[in-house]
Amino acid sequence: MRKWMLIFGLLIITVLIDEIGTVLFPSINIDKLPSVAVFLVTMVLMFFLFKKMDKTAQELGSLEQKVKNIFDTLDVAIWSHDIKTNTLRITPGIEKLYGYSLEAFYQDFDLWRKVIHPDDVAVLTERLEKISLGEPATSEYRIIRPDGEVRWIQDSGFPTFDEDGSFIDFNSVLFDITNRKESEDRYRSLVEMSPDFVAVINQGNITYINETGAYLLGASGPFELVGLSVEQFAPSDIIDDIRIRENSMVGGKFEVMRFEFQIKRLDGVIIDVEMSAMPILFGGRMVTQVVGRDITDRKKAEKTIQYMAFYDTLTGLPNRNMFKKYLNEVLNQQKKQMAAVLFLDLDRFKFINDTKGHSTGDVVLQRVAKRLQNTVHKEGMVSRQGGDEFIILIENTNKESAAIIAQRILDEFLNPLEVNDQEFFITPSIGISIYPTDGNDEETLIKNADTAMYVAKGHGKNKFQFYDSNLNGNSIQMMEFENGLRKALERDQLILHYQPQIELTTGKIVGIEALLRWHHPELGFISPSEFIPLAEETGLIVPIGKWVLQTACKQNKVWQDAGFQRVPIAVNISVRQLQEDHFVDNVIKVLDQAGLNPKYLELEITESIMQNIEESTIILNQLKYLGVNLSIDDFGTGYSSLSYLRHLPIDKIKIDKSFVDDILYHSTQGVMVKTIIDMGNHLKFSVIAEGIEQKEQVDFLQQNECNIGQGYFFSRPLTVEQMEEYLKKTIRIEVW
Ligand code: C2E
Ligand code: MG
Ligand code: MG
Repeated sequence: MRKWMLIFGLLIITVLIDEIGTVLFPSINIDKLPSVAVFLVTMVLMFFLFKKMDKTAQELGSLEQKVKNIFDTLDVAIWSHDIKTNTLRITPGIEKLYGYSLEAFYQDFDLWRKVIHPDDVAVLTERLEKISLGEPATSEYRIIRPDGEVRWIQDSGFPTFDEDGSFIDFNSVLFDITNRKESEDRYRSLVEMSPDFVAVINQGNITYINETGAYLLGASGPFELVGLSVEQFAPSDIIDDIRIRENSMVGGKFEVMRFEFQIKRLDGVIIDVEMSAMPILFGGRMVTQVVGRDITDRKKAEKTIQYMAFYDTLTGLPNRNMFKKYLNEVLNQQKKQMAAVLFLDLDRFKFINDTKGHSTGDVVLQRVAKRLQNTVHKEGMVSRQGGDEFIILIENTNKESAAIIAQRILDEFLNPLEVNDQEFFITPSIGISIYPTDGNDEETLIKNADTAMYVAKGHGKNKFQFYDSNLNGNSIQMMEFENGLRKALERDQLILHYQPQIELTTGKIVGIEALLRWHHPELGFISPSEFIPLAEETGLIVPIGKWVLQTACKQNKVWQDAGFQRVPIAVNISVRQLQEDHFVDNVIKVLDQAGLNPKYLELEITESIMQNIEESTIILNQLKYLGVNLSIDDFGTGYSSLSYLRHLPIDKIKIDKSFVDDILYHSTQGVMVKTIIDMGNHLKFSVIAEGIEQKEQVDFLQQNECNIGQGYFFSRPLTVEQMEEYLKKTIRIEVW
């Protein structure tokens, strides 16, 4: 349109030029020529100009379309209000944001305000204040769409004023920020509900901290902490470290830094925390965000575990591990010095433990530990190896100095220990090995000191003894054997095997004998005949025998509960055990703990009880009164006569294997066996033959009315599992 008006205008100008030309230059004939030329040139120029304008307009049009498309796709609307003319222009995007038609906004200029969520109306006051001052204002509020959906809007408005200060124009850009707000809400609730503490630190001050953090730091709420310097809580080296590491992070590559340290709470209590820190952008500034948790309990547990790994919980002394570690350190020292290892074992401690109970034993050990520590003082390291064994390491010493310390310990123990108003005389026996003469490594030094300790014990206890490689090999072997037996019980090297006792006429199982085995780590299974005498001699039979009784009774109860045939379990008892105080009480306790009826326990005693007949009678009567069965083992090898036995409450006699063996020799033809059976039957004892290996022996015994037998012919002593298989078969036989 404009184009044609211009051409028309130019035509008039051309005509005017013509007319003026004719007036001014009448002499020129070809009067129309210049104006035509001008017209033509102008036309050409105009052609190009319009073409260019068309193109620009087209470009502008498509740019406008593009911008419109962009606005349509974005969740954004522009609100432009010309106050002077009171004309409003809104981009169609508003429909998407508010859910109302564009028309609705034109019809009601106040609609935007009416749909604001009632809870957010207050933000308008502040907004209006700013705008009236000519300042741009950005507000965030919720709106309610016609379908009831609530959306978050960010409204950035900027007013325009003319020179006179009149408000002429107001423009606003509206964004839908619901998604951002929701994720912010999610993040906020995560942070606020987090069991970990979350805080934001800006220039060394707390700008934000969640409830957990406030609680952790001993505050009643975050408000108490905001603004406080972190220096009040965290150690300065940690703060410096964070600062240095943050500054070294370049190119926006932020790494998480992790720390464990101690925090001082507001109430002064120190707690352990584990913390991660990372720089983040917060409110347009780089700040440090920290996340952490209280690890005081974990640290305590770690310390306890570490303590338990290296210290003895009963006495607080370093334990075996710690001792070994320390000894190795000493041995690996550059400057080689002499060192002494003192292996110390308390004499008669087991007696205290057995007679006074473990709790008294424990207190005694604690007192001993203290006394040792006071005596050795700073001259060495005292450790407890376990049980009543202690090892002392003395560094930078020689034989003479070590002897002085050992003697000082012995002297110290001449005074009794007082526990629960009772006095205990406890003496130690000490074995000493010297580095490097008696060994170059920790194991050899301890072993040799241990051996020397046994020599000291063998020499009448309450002594110290240096290790000597020339000591008689055999006696050392014996001592090592005894030493091993001492440890067998605590190291679970003892087990029981079980041998069935059979009723000869029916083949039924009528009893089981428990037989002890020592599974030596180097020597394999050791027969009780080899170690029982040693155990009796050393008194070790008492704790070992107690263990056998407990294990056998418990096992019998397990089998009974499993539904196997109920038979008594026979346990071998040494005379030494019978002579112990409280033997009967102990049997009662064991039966009670196992829940076993006394009629299912049989005690096998050898004829040697006859040597102390009066005392034995009392004990045996007590046992009989309990309901326990009593039998005389290896009958015939001792010096007792059957008539003596009559006075004892005995139920059974066990004919020794040597007589049973005799059955097979024609010369004697089992005369002894026959006599024993006859007399036994006559005296109303039940008679059992042991060590039966052949069918002829069974036949002979049956013919002579011996009703029970035991021996390899029926079964060798069996492990628990084998015995169970045996018992299962027995059940099957019975069922058939
Ligand atoms: P004992 O009480 O007379 O036990 C019988 C021994 O004869 C067992 O030897 C057993 O394995 C073995 N035996 C059984 N049947 C036959 C057979 O047909 N032929 C042969 N050659 N031997 C047979 P073990 O187990 O070596 O026990 C030896 C001794 O050690 C026992 O003799 C008993 O006096 C003692 N003993 C075993 N366990 C204990 C225990 O727990 N406490 C005590 N104080 N002594 C025990
Ligand atoms: Mg026996
Ligand atoms: Mg026997």
